[in-house]
Order: sequence, then structure tokens, then C-alpha cells
Amino acid sequence: MSDCLFCKIVAGEIPSKKIYEDDKCYAFYDIDPKAPVHFLVIPKEHIESAAKVTDDNEKTVGHIFKVIAKLAEDLELTDGYRVVTNVGKDGGQTVPHMHFHVLGKRSLAWPPG
Ligand code: AMP
Ligand code: ZN
Repeated sequence: MSDCLFCKIVAGEIPSKKIYEDDKCYAFYDIDPKAPVHFLVIPKEHIESAAKVTDDNEKTVGHIFKVIAKLAEDLELTDGYRVVTNVGKDGGQTVPHMHFHVLGKRSLAWPPG
């Protein structure tokens, strides 16, 4: 979607602190962290919110949860973490491209600087 902030991040048109990407999803640090470790995982495909999961894209959601578990392990969130997805205006969603916040307490010295 051309006018979507997170589609532009996926396309590299807006810079981000990338943690991981594959053919289906992209993970990057939140610009305004609410926890010592706070990153977002998004589908590369534009899906507006978790309310727009369909038979065609449901596998992407499962894949994202697998990636979240792997990244949490890589970032040493060994004592646990929160996964949050806001839906719509009343759910506090400010960017209309589905994203999963991952919030944890362990802070690694990455990215450098
Ligand atoms: P939500 O309020 O659930 O829609 O979450 C949107 C999140 O995107 C917020 O936590 C913002 O801090 C974050 N955000 C907005 N713009 C950027 C950006 N350019 N790079 C990284 N995170 C961003
Ligand atoms: Zn988008």
C-alpha cells in the first residue's frame, strides 16, 4: 500500500533499525520504546489489523509468532515478554498496518551506538 508508513519501512523508503526479515515478515525496533526491549514484527504484505486476518493470510500470523519466539530467544528475553497488537481507533492502533509489539525487560547492547 503506497501511503502506509510500515509498507514504506518494509520497502526501505523509511529507515528503521531492522532486527530480522524473511519473505513474509519484518522486525524492527520501536522508535518510541515503552520497555527496555521493544520491537515490532509486521507482515510484509499490507494487512490492516488483526481484525483483517483471513483464510488467505492466517498462515502469516502463525509464522510471525514463530519468528517472535525465535527473536525473543536471540535477544535473551529468557524470563518472558509481552506480545500486544492494537486493533482500530478504540484499541489504540495508530498505524493501520498490523503489527505485534514485543516488550521485554532484558536490554542487549544492540544496535551499536
Ligand atoms: P500502535 O499505536 O499500536 O499502532 O503502534 C504503533 C507503534 O509504531 C508505536 O509504538 C510507535 O512508536 C511505532 N512507530 C511509529 N513510527 C515508527 C517508525 N518510523 N519506526 C519505528 N517505530 C515506529
Ligand atoms: Zn502497509
